[in-house]
Amino acid sequence: MSEPGQVRLNAPAAESGGGTEITPMKGVICAQFVRCGNRKCRCHQGEPHGPYYYRVWREAGQVHKEYVKPSDVEGVRAGCDVHKEFTQQLRDLRKDREQLTRRIQSEWRKVTRSRKVRLDPH
Ligand SMILES: [Zn+2]
Repeated sequence: MSEPGQVRLNAPAAESGGGTEITPMKGVICAQFVRCGNRKCRCHQGEPHGPYYYRVWREAGQVHKEYVKPSDVEGVRAGCDVHKEFTQQLRDLRKDREQLTRRIQSEWRKVTRSRKVRLDPH
């Protein structure tokens, strides 16, 4: 039995990709292995604990480090990738703009030069 007029509005928004939102984040994910204080622990026999994940980024000349929970690693990594891609695209865009400006300037110079020639009474 289906009753018209009873529509559920809270359907999942994104069907593909799991619906997780990626937050662009500066930096890279680093894995670290550590040795604990217990000298008899296996970590002192070449089997260190870890990996523990950190996000490392640079800001205003300072290096920042932030612990990332294992369950967050994939999301943070995706965020770092997106941020990296974004800054790369921005850099390319700036380069394009500089080239365009240079071209316009040289074209403009050509135009003004030829006009000067045409306006020359000789
Ligand atoms: Zn240990």
